[in-house]
Amino acid sequence: MKTVLNCLQAVLSFFAEILFGCSHSRLTRPFTIEAETYKVCLDCGKQIYYSAQEMRPLNPWEVRRMKAANAGEVKVMPAPAMPQLVPAREREPNIAA
Ligand SMILES: [Zn+2]
Repeated sequence: MKTVLNCLQAVLSFFAEILFGCSHSRLTRPFTIEAETYKVCLDCGKQIYYSAQEMRPLNPWEVRRMKAANAGEVKVMPAPAMPQLVPAREREPNIAA
């Protein structure tokens, strides 16, 4: 019975680590090395990636995107500026008179 409970606990902690990172609470402060900001778990050594701009842990999708950008696979480009809109009465008419 004890073996079954240990196995169940291992499975649950496995999925908890996938969903929430690690289940430990003793973490370092966030620090940045080579353009990657993360905390480190003092119990298991797992790196928990962190946003220095928003001061919160990154979700798995953001971590994957950051690693791809650092590896040069994805170019992160700023959103294009909106085109300048000109009010209709200041526009030249297209009809040649
Ligand atoms: Zn941990």
